[in-house]
Amino acid sequence: MHPFNQRIQSALAARQSQGLYRSRTCLERQDCQVLDTGSLSQASSPHHAKRCLNFSSNDYLGLAQSPALVEAWQQGLTRYGAGSGASPLVTGYQPAHHRLEKQLADWLGYDRALLFSSGFGANQALLFTLLQKGDLLIQDKLNHASLMEAGMLSEATMRRFAHNDTDALAQLLAKQTNVTSAETVKMVVTEGVFSMDGDCAPLAAMQTLCHAHQSLLAVDDAHGCGVLGDEGRGSCDQAGIRPDILVVTFGKAFGLQGAAILCNEDLAEYLVQFARHYIYSTAIPPAQAHALSQACSMIQQQHWRREKLQELGHILAEALDPAVELVATDTPIKPVLVGDSQRAVAMSEQLRDRGIWVSAIRPPTVPVNSSRLRITLTANHEPSDIRQLANAINEVFHAQ
Ligand code: PMP
Repeated sequence: MHPFNQRIQSALAARQSQGLYRSRTCLERQDCQVLDTGSLSQASSPHHAKRCLNFSSNDYLGLAQSPALVEAWQQGLTRYGAGSGASPLVTGYQPAHHRLEKQLADWLGYDRALLFSSGFGANQALLFTLLQKGDLLIQDKLNHASLMEAGMLSEATMRRFAHNDTDALAQLLAKQTNVTSAETVKMVVTEGVFSMDGDCAPLAAMQTLCHAHQSLLAVDDAHGCGVLGDEGRGSCDQAGIRPDILVVTFGKAFGLQGAAILCNEDLAEYLVQFARHYIYSTAIPPAQAHALSQACSMIQQQHWRREKLQELGHILAEALDPAVELVATDTPIKPVLVGDSQRAVAMSEQLRDRGIWVSAIRPPTVPVNSSRLRITLTANHEPSDIRQLANAINEVFHAQ
């Protein structure tokens, strides 16, 4: 066998033997239900054609299938056609993109917003383009893979601090200040809401530390924007801060796809000139930008969606057996800690048998021995759905 094929096969076999092999399930989705038609599953799948309540989507506000958003996208398609046809610096940047950028910048309080086709790409562009050799990048240990990978590949020196530990961050900033020069750019990067834990970063304290050490602060608010803060402005608004750079993504509360970097005029122009992920990538379809403008308006105006999420969170906390290790969060991400990855998978499968879809999250996505069921709530769930979820978890928990 060719060594390349051997390498691939042994990596796959290692994943299998560690019990960490991931497989995709092809699901049809309707409101807060998913239907596993078994179209891609193996014939022996015990979950063939099963309808489940979906507690694993990031569509927190329930916008992804809302008629108003679907209609906006259709309207965009009729007006602008299917695709943008080019990258933004060629002919891909169109009035629908411009209007969305302006709307985001005004809403979130920045000079400029720059659109990207994914949050992963936006984070890569941000760290690769702004940081150079000799610079210092400081990240929370639990930051998203897109930030970690960009940091590891960037020429800047990367340091990580224990999750949400501002003392550790302060020490790191103080220590590094002694070894850096006046020219060194320092950047602290954190998520606003951590995707696997659902907890919020201590943003106010972090901003104070960054100011004291002349460091930039960048916040990836993929999971906070739309859900927290006044008019859904996100975790920074809730914490009363305005970081130098804010990343928002559209695959979660916006119910769509894509991302934006918010920053000052010069930084935005620097990214337009030098960010390869921006310059050499096709602009998102203008119809999508049009739909995103509609999502942005709905987020600002429809407070009831955020209020309902809070109410559903309280119902869940009350209905779960106290022995179940539900992490208390202020966000729609409600992890139930299990620890052992095989037990987490078994619980997820047993929940599926009871008509509940909750994914088991295992290493390497989360640290070893911290496997969990990651429950996410959406504004489309009803209190009765939450009670059904809690009853099923209570049963499965005690059956283990
Ligand atoms: N940042 C965070 C914190 C995320 O959770 C994700 C997606 N899960 C991303 C960035 C990437 O965003 P996208 O899905 O738009 O690529």
